[in-house]
Amino acid sequence: MTELATSPVEREQDVKRISHWIGGRLVEGRSGRSGPVYNPALGRQTGAVDFATPEEVDLAVQTAREAFESWRAMSLSKRTAIFFQIRELVHERHEEIARILTAEHGKVLSDAMGEVARGLEVIEYCCGIPELLKGDFSEQASTGIDVYSIRQPLGVVAGITPFNFPAMVPMWMWAPALACGNTFVLKPSEKDPSASLYAAELLKEAGVPDGVFNVVHGDKVAVDAVLEHPDIQAVSFVGSTPIARYVYETGTKHGKRVQALGGAKNHMIVLPDADIDMAADAAVSAAYGSAGERCMAISQVVAVGDAADRLVKAIENRLPKIKVGNGLEPDVEMGPLVTREHRDKVASYIDGAREQGADVVADGRESAPDGDGFFLGVSLLDNVTPEMDAYKDEIFGPVLGVTRVGTYNEAVRLVNENPYGNGTAIFTRDGGVARQFQFDVQAGMVGINVPIPVPVAYYSFGGWTRARADEIPAETAGVRPVPFESCRTEVLAETAGVRPLQFETCRAKWGGSVGG
Ligand code: NAD
Repeated sequence: MTELATSPVEREQDVKRISHWIGGRLVEGRSGRSGPVYNPALGRQTGAVDFATPEEVDLAVQTAREAFESWRAMSLSKRTAIFFQIRELVHERHEEIARILTAEHGKVLSDAMGEVARGLEVIEYCCGIPELLKGDFSEQASTGIDVYSIRQPLGVVAGITPFNFPAMVPMWMWAPALACGNTFVLKPSEKDPSASLYAAELLKEAGVPDGVFNVVHGDKVAVDAVLEHPDIQAVSFVGSTPIARYVYETGTKHGKRVQALGGAKNHMIVLPDADIDMAADAAVSAAYGSAGERCMAISQVVAVGDAADRLVKAIENRLPKIKVGNGLEPDVEMGPLVTREHRDKVASYIDGAREQGADVVADGRESAPDGDGFFLGVSLLDNVTPEMDAYKDEIFGPVLGVTRVGTYNEAVRLVNENPYGNGTAIFTRDGGVARQFQFDVQAGMVGINVPIPVPVAYYSFGGWTRARADEIPAETAGVRPVPFESCRTEVLAETAGVRPLQFETCRAKWGGSVGG
């Protein structure tokens, strides 16, 4: 491994310069514009990331274009061998990558390890690319005429990724794209960009030829240059809903295939017959894990009937046990938020909810650790109603709202009226209701006694409605060979045998699950 992510060019003392990666090497930006990168647990700037100009994006695209012909022509067996090598290196450097995530994102190390593990699953899936790239063949489609389809790479494709999964979400994109024979330009989040450069180095070490994988950093200028570039065939985006919509509209206007996954406001329904301890464990884990900065976080509980009092009490009882601090410390369960501005915005929802009539059961500002880090403790809001901002907005922080309703039907209506159809969950012991729920709800992913229904690598991932701006399935090859499609996925424990629906019986463990 060369000395990239661990000891980059110093710009000021202790502030590393984070440059682009084009053609298999670091390329310093010339725009004169950069963004600060922080260690959120320390509240200190640790990096300055170059912001690309359109010319620098063009250089990356042209480099990827030149690399395309030989990469696509490489035999499947050789490409697969490279993927096995990538898999080995990520596996070997698992903790090293996780530490980069903790240092720039703030999530606790165990969570960061989980993120890398989920990304690794995608790479492992891509090791089977010869099987996945098989075409179809129909003999005698017409008299004497056979028909076949083949899967071909598109060319240069791009990924634009959010801050909350700086390793896994880029892996969702570059792994299948490269495995299919495309070349790639990644524009990672400017808030925690180092993991992408580490991946670039690692891919080079694994044998990916120079130019096949490129990283350009930046803001809207770089994103627009990607979306408008005539030589980029497809764009995959993950981020907030307004930007997802913008990326989808702009990219498709410029003739690209675009998939765009947006934000979320995931509701978890708890029925009176639920195992309340199980539901409370799940709510705590799914709401506060990774400081709520997960698109699959549960941010809204809908408690039905007399489940509400018992559930709120059970959640409240668990909160003092959650240790907040620097994610590198072994017993810490929740780290800081990504920036000071984001922390302050999240905290503002607590006062807002109180002013609008909610009960603040726990105020995270009171339990935040001292120091300069961007910390906020866990917050619990009860009696949140749909008119409140804390209900309507994606807060993206450790603030859990509880809405009380009288019936299952009211609860389902709330889920379906919520404009973010990313994921949802129900907690109940009633098999009939659980089965009905999966038909009744309109959301991209559904959990039955599972709080964060995140599909495994060989299932697609993607919400509905405002959680997804595109309606066409995006493809990184001519025929969709990868888990990018707009189908609904139920993640259930033990999907074996003939049973179509099974129930998770184990308790969610705090900090152990990772969702997008
Ligand atoms: P974001 O939308 O602010 O940024 C995402 C990307 O878009 C970044 O690379 C950023 O540089 C770029 N960007 C930001 N503003 C832009 C603009 N005005 N014009 C062009 N590009 C712009 O999102 P974020 O804050 O980094 O990530 C959090 C969001 O991502 C949340 O809404 C979360 O729900 C969502 N998310 C969704 C999924 C999913 O699978 N649906 C997964 C992870 C995160």
